[in-house]
Amino acid sequence: MTGRWVVIAGERAQRPSDFLPRRLPVEDDPLRPCPFCPGSQLDPVLECRGPDGEWDVRVVPNLYPAFSGNDPMVVTHLGPVFTQAPASGVHDVVILSPDHNVSWADIEADHSARIMSAIKLRMLEHSELPGLRYSQAVVNSGREAGASIEHPHGQLLSMPFIPGEAANELAGFARFQGNCLLCAVMEAETEEGHRVVYADDRVVMICPFWSGTPYEMLLMPRSHDIHLYEADDEDLAAMGRSVQLALDSLRFRLGDVAYNLMFHSAPFRTSADFHWHVHVVPKISTRGGFEMGSGVLINVVPPERAADDLRSSFAHA
Ligand SMILES: [Zn+2]
Ligand SMILES: [Zn+2]
Ligand SMILES: [Zn+2]
Repeated sequence: MTGRWVVIAGERAQRPSDFLPRRLPVEDDPLRPCPFCPGSQLDPVLECRGPDGEWDVRVVPNLYPAFSGNDPMVVTHLGPVFTQAPASGVHDVVILSPDHNVSWADIEADHSARIMSAIKLRMLEHSELPGLRYSQAVVNSGREAGASIEHPHGQLLSMPFIPGEAANELAGFARFQGNCLLCAVMEAETEEGHRVVYADDRVVMICPFWSGTPYEMLLMPRSHDIHLYEADDEDLAAMGRSVQLALDSLRFRLGDVAYNLMFHSAPFRTSADFHWHVHVVPKISTRGGFEMGSGVLINVVPPERAADDLRSSFAHA
């Protein structure tokens, strides 16, 4: 997808139990109440309400934003090698639930749909701000995955440039000698079947052929939209439900591991070849010097075996 090679080293086989143990919870400071629990002082920029009329998804500004303000992206050269630009943009926090201890693996389908619709609505708003080019939505769960607050939440960071990973994927789509890379992947994978974890009439969930990480999954909507914020409500709801199923199968197979979710949508206002999708990556292996030095990941669980393991968990759902 990005043109990067990975090494599949299945003979270094390990059982799932050989991986890192349960996720480490983030230590909550007992002197500081959780900023995301109901009753906190943060002013929401968006609230989605559940059946009982109370909010169940809430978007608030990040108090320590990585991107903020609306200065134009003007690059300044400070001498021959130092280049800088203002980190303009928006940094939202998406509170996934009022419940401090819930996991998305347990969130029911219509609540998951409201999470997806909150991400869409904010992404759409960010896309209309002048000067911003791209939005990255993520969920980090567990300390090893980079979470700093235990309360289940995601983040939406919108920035005035196209970051490297998105540029690499866009180049992968552009290089592909066909209509759409991910439409072709879905067709090929559903035909072969052995890397498919789950599929319904709206979403296909696979362990990608090019998996660099054990048990990583790729979730794709069947309908071809390049922007997440242009997907229709049914597709967003189906994706929310698939995220829940993916996390539930990970937990069943590997235990309560840390993980990252990455939502990839095309840069704003572009019609480049792309197809929005979601990466689910459990944090169960660490990158050593070889991975950092070469950028080549070594994956000890072939995606076919990972898909087989994860699929078996659906029998228990
Ligand atoms: Zn909380
Ligand atoms: Zn497509
Ligand atoms: Zn991607």
